[in-house]
Amino acid sequence: MPIQSINPATGALLRSFTPLTNEALLQKIALAESAFARTTEVPLAHRALCMNKLAHLLDRETADLAALITSEMGKPIAQSRAEIAKCAAACRFYAVNAARILAPEPIDAPPLDAIVRWDPLGVILAVMPWNFPFWQVFRFLAPALMAGNVGLLKHASNVPQCALAIEALVRRAGFPRGSFQTLLIEASQVEMVLADQRVAAVTVTGSESAGRAIAAQAGWLIKKSVLELGGSDPFIVMPSASLDTAIAAAVAARCINSGQSCIAAKRFLIADSIYDEFESRFVAAMDAIKVGDPTREDTQIGPLATTAQLDEIEAQVAAAIHAGARLLAGGERMIGTGNYYAPTVLAGLPRTAPVYREEVFGPVAMLFRFTDIDEAIAIANDTPFGLAASVWTANRDEQRRFSAALQCGAVFFNAQVASDPRLPFGGVKRSGYGRELSAAGMREFLNAKTVVTAEPGPTP
Ligand code: NAP
Repeated sequence: MPIQSINPATGALLRSFTPLTNEALLQKIALAESAFARTTEVPLAHRALCMNKLAHLLDRETADLAALITSEMGKPIAQSRAEIAKCAAACRFYAVNAARILAPEPIDAPPLDAIVRWDPLGVILAVMPWNFPFWQVFRFLAPALMAGNVGLLKHASNVPQCALAIEALVRRAGFPRGSFQTLLIEASQVEMVLADQRVAAVTVTGSESAGRAIAAQAGWLIKKSVLELGGSDPFIVMPSASLDTAIAAAVAARCINSGQSCIAAKRFLIADSIYDEFESRFVAAMDAIKVGDPTREDTQIGPLATTAQLDEIEAQVAAAIHAGARLLAGGERMIGTGNYYAPTVLAGLPRTAPVYREEVFGPVAMLFRFTDIDEAIAIANDTPFGLAASVWTANRDEQRRFSAALQCGAVFFNAQVASDPRLPFGGVKRSGYGRELSAAGMREFLNAKTVVTAEPGPTP
């Protein structure tokens, strides 16, 4: 099957690539192995120079790179530019902070003289999704390359041009040849790459099914894996919240990336006393969202990335209505060319409905009413996922209660959930395990090597 780049706004085939043969794939793995040997000899300060150069290239070429993202997966152009800027920020964060994170740690364990060294593992395979085609890759590659690891990227099959552009940027930034290679391969070839003894570990960002398949193999091979999978994040509004701010953030949190974000708010839990006002104002705001051509500066929601994605959203909304949800806005694909789906609001979906347990990866908000904080926590945790939560309350006691009780990897109070190079990012339950970003993310693919040095004793 060719790997195709198709513009989701027009349906036009942009480019088509033949997947690598297994022979060509083995050559790339061999090159990665030799690059790792060379990388470990490159001083950290030089790697930092290359990483800063990479940030500079991203800044300088933002317009072209953003246009590429928008043409391949339909992200509104302003958001594509923001994605490139965020990649540059991550490069700079690790260029500045790697020395601190990688410094050997003295251990207080008298009478032993002990330290922990942070050594790179080697060749790391990254299996990545299309929704943030640069950011998802950069949040792996910036810490990995600064730590002295090398990367092999299996990107989603609908963003091959982004994948090739990232490889070229890393090479131009001055990293040793083979430090970061894109593998234009099919999902079925991932097994062969991971099985190769020269590949040390794997990170997967994507769906549960991809994570499950790859982690099962990694487990069998006893190779380290990090999984960043789906989410069904709650957005909880308590009576003390500022409704103006909360409603604006709720719309933004559901519609970011045309609804196709793992940390998009997907379930909106609203206190009974403010529910009716929230519902009517939220529905009006969702109705007012500008859907259309993603190359236009004022577009807020573009097309969904693939026709399969559009079909799935349509089926999930139909299933929710069939299960008893009330449709308050949208609920249909939009007429004309392109994978457009109207911003949709559903209320009162029974929690017994199968679709309630699924991730809805598009501009579809589900509203729920709760009577007290106990019920809010119970609904928020009633999901197989555990990525993040956004909670709107001015009450410190409530904040303490939510921080402890919510089963997820991050809780943001009075703010939309967002990734940030300085903060650990990742989930619990079926959202996966391990962390990306910050020191924690960098250390996922390092060997915490204990070194104990005793006095040598008398020489013979
Ligand atoms: P996907 O279908 O799982 O694809 C992700 C990657 O995995 C692609 O490169 C895909 O290749 C590959 N893949 C799929 N099945 C595989 C298998 N059995 N073996 C090996 N590789 C396999 O997910 P997606 O539709 O691209 O992305 C959306 C999902 O990613 C959502 O669930 C979203 O929540 C999640 N996500 C999570 C995070 C996070 O940080 N937690 C961030 C962003 C997205 P092909 O394209 O060739 O199939």
